[in-house]
Amino acid sequence: MEKIHILYFTNWLYPRFSGPYASSSLDHEPLRGGEILMGYECVSIDTTDECVTATASFSKEGKLLTRKIQSKILIGADGAGSMVRKLVGIDLKGEKDLQKLVSVHFWSKDLGRYLLNERPGMLFFIFNTEVIGVLVAHDLTQGEFVLQIPFYPPQQNLEDFSAEICKKLILKLVGQELSDIDVIDIKPWVMHAEVADRFVCGNNQIMLCGDAAHRFPPAGGFGMNTGIQDAHNLAWKIASLLNGVAPTSILATYETERKPIAVFNTALSVQNFRAAMAVPATLGLDPTVANSVHQVINKGFGYILPSGMQKAILDGIFSIGRSQLSEFILNENNPLGSSRLAKLRHIFEEGKSLQLQFPAEDLGFRYLEGALVPDGDDVVPAPELPTGRRRDYVPCADPGSRLPHMNVKVLSNFPSEETISTLDLVSENKVEFLLIIAPMEESYNLAQAAFKVAEEYKVSTKVCILWPADTVTRVQPGSKAKLAPWKNYIDVIEVKRSLDSSSWWSTCQMTEQGAILVRPDEHIAWRSKSRAVGDLYSKMKIVFSTVLGFESMNS
Ligand SMILES: Cc1cc2nc3c(=O)[nH]c(=O)nc-3n(C[C@H](O)[C@H](O)[C@H](O)COP(=O)(O)OP(=O)(O)OC[C@H]3O[C@@H](n4cnc5c(N)ncnc54)[C@H](O)[C@@H]3O)c2cc1C
Repeated sequence: MEKIHILYFTNWLYPRFSGPYASSSLDHEPLRGGEILMGYECVSIDTTDECVTATASFSKEGKLLTRKIQSKILIGADGAGSMVRKLVGIDLKGEKDLQKLVSVHFWSKDLGRYLLNERPGMLFFIFNTEVIGVLVAHDLTQGEFVLQIPFYPPQQNLEDFSAEICKKLILKLVGQELSDIDVIDIKPWVMHAEVADRFVCGNNQIMLCGDAAHRFPPAGGFGMNTGIQDAHNLAWKIASLLNGVAPTSILATYETERKPIAVFNTALSVQNFRAAMAVPATLGLDPTVANSVHQVINKGFGYILPSGMQKAILDGIFSIGRSQLSEFILNENNPLGSSRLAKLRHIFEEGKSLQLQFPAEDLGFRYLEGALVPDGDDVVPAPELPTGRRRDYVPCADPGSRLPHMNVKVLSNFPSEETISTLDLVSENKVEFLLIIAPMEESYNLAQAAFKVAEEYKVSTKVCILWPADTVTRVQPGSKAKLAPWKNYIDVIEVKRSLDSSSWWSTCQMTEQGAILVRPDEHIAWRSKSRAVGDLYSKMKIVFSTVLGFESMNS
């Protein structure tokens, strides 16, 4: 049995198999670092205090074999139906089955050309008397699309969505002759709004990441983004553990930090999904009514009817629903139609339909507790609720926030005109903390203390001396002398967009007397708002030990 450090399950290509498995001779074959095993399915997990053993099944020469793989850590990144989540017995909390849909992936250059010329866009909600669907344009130039169609099983089944039928539906939706529709995939899926009870289990050895940990409506583009943030949050913590610079408890902060964000993004996506549904509801096509009708047919009187009749009733009701969209009803001369059109205009004018821009949530999400040191005077705010309105991103350097962006020039590159972002100062390829200071005597002393403590903890730390705009033009010998013998530092200078735009420290809502310690994932671990005075070594020791998980702030 081979031993690896981390195991991800993300590449399941074969159908689930319930028969007996044959053990594989590969049990003893070493796994190369970073190797991806295509076609392997995780079927069982065993944990001991020392390691996790995952059994993966795979098919070889017509036989189904299994292979045992040992690792220190296992990450279940296996999607909304996560087998890892089920195997370790983690429950999901939230709303199930908001909507069933069929997803149709197809190509049509004709459609791409038509939309580019007539109605360029990315997302098309199409309601007409024959069909209803949401068309997502993945690439207008190449003509790649995914269509989402509401799905009502068991009265409807997947045969009702064969490639030929889907082609007809696409033509009805688009209302144009398209000669080149090529349907390449048709899949049903169910929309839920749920978050896993726990993100970490088994003595901090097993973690859920991405849709395995949270699944919610694709309204607002948060699904994959939330998953990528999970991975970003987890990567430096695992690396710190494996490099021997942090204890296993650092992994518990993954759940402390990420779960509240997942809960918030779930609520936001549900709210946004409901806002999007306000449009069909105003047109007389309320999806909640359609779902209730479907429930009645499933569980109420319809249940006793033959399945063909149930389907006919459902089709009949939906077709009556869609007739609300006919020009006969939906026109300004018809009192019902004109009132619906007025409500529709109001929804769009007030921006109360689907929102696609979320700057505050995309960039301004903040961890309130975890691998960070809150400000001493921090009053932990009550959990936020989504407002349903666009909120702007306001940069700040509160612990747990993402490091604000500002353009800077690296002074050692002078006279190079290359401008980088403050975010580029965080190392891309190693686990390294970044301490940002102003060129002040006390801050250099703080940096000296930080270097010393970081060396004791064996954790790489870089110091950035951020010079105010227009104060210097070339690399300052001052920093070298002030920071000797430490060498891992960089002098940069602010590049302001205009004369009256904010300085770095005011963008951070701080003064130049302060300092900011940034984690390898670009989130702020700690900051000092005032001049560095007193026993700076002890101060930095508490900071690093808290962030790395050696010391709880309350102990
Ligand atoms: C219609 C639609 C539109 C969307 N639009 C957006 C958007 O605009 N923006 C956005 O951010 N998100 C969007 N999302 C959400 C996004 O697609 C998901 O959040 C994202 O794909 C989740 O990634 P993941 O890696 O966690 O899971 P998945 O992409 O589901 O990957 C899981 C992988 O694990 C494998 N696997 C499953 N079980 C096992 C097993 N037992 N053993 C081994 N491997 C296994 C699977 O084969 C798969 O390869 C959308 C989703 C939908 C349905």
